[in-house]
Parts: sequence; structure tokens; C-alpha cells
Amino acid sequence: MKHIQKRVLVTGGAGFLGSHLCDRLIKEGTDVICLDNFFTGTKDNIRHLLGNPNFELIRHDLTQPVFIEVDEIYNLACPASPIHYQYNPVKTIKTSVMGSIHMLGLAKRVKAKILQASTSEVYGDPTTHPQREDYWGNVNCIGIRSCYDEGKRCAETLFFDYHRQNNVNIRVVRIFNTYGPRMHPNDGRVVSNFIVQALSNKDITVFGDGRQTRSFCYVDDLLDGMIRMMNGPDDFTGPVNLGNPGEFTILELAETIIRLTGSKSRVIFSPLPQDDPMQRQPDISLAKDRLGWEPKIKLENGLRMTIDYFRDIL
Ligand code: NAD
Ligand code: UDP
Repeated sequence: MKHIQKRVLVTGGAGFLGSHLCDRLIKEGTDVICLDNFFTGTKDNIRHLLGNPNFELIRHDLTQPVFIEVDEIYNLACPASPIHYQYNPVKTIKTSVMGSIHMLGLAKRVKAKILQASTSEVYGDPTTHPQREDYWGNVNCIGIRSCYDEGKRCAETLFFDYHRQNNVNIRVVRIFNTYGPRMHPNDGRVVSNFIVQALSNKDITVFGDGRQTRSFCYVDDLLDGMIRMMNGPDDFTGPVNLGNPGEFTILELAETIIRLTGSKSRVIFSPLPQDDPMQRQPDISLAKDRLGWEPKIKLENGLRMTIDYFRDIL
């Protein structure tokens, strides 16, 4: 029987971004199927949705095919923090590549619209600044980050080939560093690491000299952009950058978090990991122009909300 209500599949739906996306879609009255293998996601992130009649949870590994009827797919399954994606690099690249093939095959069969959560990592250690979507990137294909970077680059290739060859209705968003409540406290990403260290008055571990930069987007802003992209016109496939153009050095981030938490932590320096990008800032003119989107939440305000979350769970 044909279903009336829109049914949306969120892969990686028990993770940081995925669980917030499930919340947003459920709030809009959408039927949500959350698929996850719980590698980095947790049931805690979605426990509050489990009794909801519009919410279904499937434990499944996306490196294996799955057959369901859906109208839209948000493909977020993939570990995102360097510690996690380097833990089993072969599995990481399989998740991006085979996961995309399985989801694109599903989208093709059931004629679903499909959005890929790509990343600023497709630009590697960029030689242009800020990064625009027409920059092809500077990625080391044999380094320790390449299981993630090249996996995501290949996923983009697959999206565009399924689009050209099979007319699949695609959307590709390139997400820049995003933070907020429900980041995993041990996932090693800089915002969660520094907040956890600051709240427990432990040393703040700055890698390298701390002059490398990142641009941090609060999760709510990011999801506004992602949902706008999914609902946008079919001729706008992307790739489109989604991120906050406010650019900060890692040392500035450390100092801000120490100040906002009132922590007694000291900053200590340790070696910069291999291939760590020196600078990163999104050019979001395309998203502004085509989606009418730009982030609204300033770093300090977003950090305050994230600090409150970590205070609660620690
Ligand atoms: P996360 O690690 O919290 O979420 C990833 C989710 O995918 C987890 O729930 C994990 O269990 C699940 N997963 C991993 N491998 C899987 C597999 N083989 N089968 C099924 N599920 C699997 O990370 P996140 O920050 O929420 O990132 C979500 C997506 O957004 C990822 O694809 C990531 O690459 C992308 N992204 C995130 C950021 C960011 O700053 N948060 C930046 C760029 C891109
Ligand atoms: N970083 C750091 N200390 C930490 C964790 C990360 O100095 O405890 C640095 C890391 O070297 C990088 C930046 O912070 O330059 C962002 O790291 P993250 O892992 O959050 O994301 P990505 O490198 O993928 O942008």
C-alpha cells in the first residue's frame, strides 16, 4: 500500500548530527527511520524518540545492503573524528564507498531523493583561502587521514555518476567543523576535547603551535542549511559548503573555552598529527545565494550551550 506521509531514512542517525536531524524531522511530523551500527553513535542520543510512533530504529551496518521503502535519504553514516575514523581505516573507507553505493542503489530503485553529508576534508590541506566549492583540493591519498578524505571524495564521485547515469535526485553538502551537545566526550575532536579537559581542570592539549585555524559551526545552524538543501530545487545538486565563516586559531579556541568555563586548566603543546590542515574557512556565498542560508549562532554562544551539556553529563 502506498504511504501518504513522507518517510525519511537517516543513516548514522544515532550519532551527533544524525540524532539532532532525527529530532528536527520528527518535530516537523515526518516519519523517520534511523539506521545505525552504533560504532560512534549511541542509543542515549535517540532514546527519547524510541516510543514515538513516527520513529523507527534499525541496527544495521551500511557496508551491507538494505531494502526499505523511503522518500528521502540523509546519508550521514561514517565516523567523523580523526581518532574514530583512523581506528579501523579500511572500515571507514568501506562505509563511505560501499555505504554510498548501497544508498544510491536504494535511491535509484525507490526513486528517493538523497543527500550526502560530505566534508571540508575533500579540500585536504587547502592552498586557497577561504575554500570555494570549485576548488579541487589538496589531499594526500596515502596519509592517515585519506581513509576519510578519499572515502568522502569517492562518495561525491558516486553521487554525481548516479545522478548523470541514472538520474538519481542528489544533494551534496560539504560540512565544515560542526560542534554542539551530543558530541561524544571521548571522540577526540577539538571542541569536545577542550571542553571536557577544561571542566575537569586538566591540561588543554593543543597540537602543534596552535596557530592552525578552523571555522566552527553550531549544530542548529548546520541542520538549517542541510534541511534547506534537501528541500531546495532539484537542479541545485551542490556541492555546497555549509559552515560558519568565523575563523579562529586553535589557541584562541582554547583560551575562549578556559575563560567561559572559568577553568584552572593550563595549555600544553604536543606534536601536530600528520597532514593536519593548517587553515580552513568556508566561502558560503553559494549557500547564501541558492539557499538563503547563513549561520546565526556566534562561537561564544554556541560554546556556552555545549559547555552546559557537558557539565550535565560529566
Ligand atoms: P558521529 O560519529 O557522531 O556520527 C556518525 C554515525 O554514523 C554514528 O552514529 C555511527 O555509529 C554511524 N556509523 C558509522 N559507521 C557506520 C556503518 N558502517 N553503518 C551504519 N552506521 C555507521 O559523527 P557526526 O559528527 O555526527 O557526523 C555525521 C556525518 O557528517 C558524517 O558522515 C561526517 O563525515 C559528516 N561530517 C561531520 C562534520 C562535523 O564537524 N561534525 C564535518 C564534516 C562532515
Ligand atoms: N586539536 C588540538 N587538540 C586536541 C584535538 C584537536 O589541538 O585535543 C587540533 C587538531 O590538531 C586540528 C584542530 O584541532 O588542528 C581540529 O581538530 P579536529 O580533530 O576537531 O577536526 P579536524 O582536524 O578534522 O578539522
